[in-house]
Amino acid sequence: MTVLAERSTPGPKPDFEPEPRTKAELLTFALVVGLPLIAIAVAVPVAWGWGLIGWSDVVIAAVFYVVSGLGVTVGLHRYFTHGSFKAKRPLKIAMGIAGSLSLEMSVLDWVATHRKHHKFSDKEGDPHSPWRFGPGFKAMSKGLLYAHMGWLFDAERVNREKYAPDLVRDPDVMKLHRWFGALALTSILLPGVIGGLVTWSWQGALTALFWGSLVRIGLLHHVTWSINSICHVFGEEDFQVRDKSRNVWWLAIPSFGESWHNLHHSDPTCARHGALKGQIDLSAGLIRIFERLGWAHDVRWPTAERLAAKRIS
Ligand SMILES: [Zn+2]
Ligand SMILES: [Zn+2]
Repeated sequence: MTVLAERSTPGPKPDFEPEPRTKAELLTFALVVGLPLIAIAVAVPVAWGWGLIGWSDVVIAAVFYVVSGLGVTVGLHRYFTHGSFKAKRPLKIAMGIAGSLSLEMSVLDWVATHRKHHKFSDKEGDPHSPWRFGPGFKAMSKGLLYAHMGWLFDAERVNREKYAPDLVRDPDVMKLHRWFGALALTSILLPGVIGGLVTWSWQGALTALFWGSLVRIGLLHHVTWSINSICHVFGEEDFQVRDKSRNVWWLAIPSFGESWHNLHHSDPTCARHGALKGQIDLSAGLIRIFERLGWAHDVRWPTAERLAAKRIS
């Protein structure tokens, strides 16, 4: 029993219908979390010590970071989880593929987990709350680590049918779910293939694999996980929320606007998370482009009244 269970704050009843994770699934998580972590640790000596970084590596890594990152923020998060806008079918499938390239989870599992996070945010039942072990330095340090990546190794995963029944019924999403392994493998191997072809060398293929796959995936994962850990502990509370979500300005650019997490929890279906003056939100910018191209419609842009109603002055 965690400290959260003893809190008297009213909230929805905890969910007791998670599904077991297989050993293979947990081992895959360990590799996907561990290898990029090692890559990030040795990135500095690889670049500056041995000079094993070229312009093609930087460009390949940046392009894959942006495509898979926006696939998560605009696709998996704002579109598939929260329905902040409607999209034409080719765009929907493209966003599902781009999001899968992040190697976070399949569209189905990502959405189910995140919807459960919103339902129980910072209460018992939240899959990744940094407040899980209670307040205080020791408990918070443990909680931050758990919210950041420890939760991935939970023996159970969120029930798909319960939290994403709409997606379970969507044949396109189910196909993306079944193809997740192949998409993940493509995301790992493609940077190396491109690097090899561009430089026409094995070394070019290997350095592109290192920077464009391992380091890029590791950085994107840590930025995404920081929204779950840092943005539920530190930062500004500009809007009224039932949880501990906060706005963190210094993560705004690498997270493509997702670190304006306080407004997001205050108004989850809003397509723009950085809605206050000066809050850069690149994901909202991309949704605006999709809208202008006619690929997205019914976008839930923030209105002055909606913002004012929840604003803490
Ligand atoms: Zn959150
Ligand atoms: Zn959300």
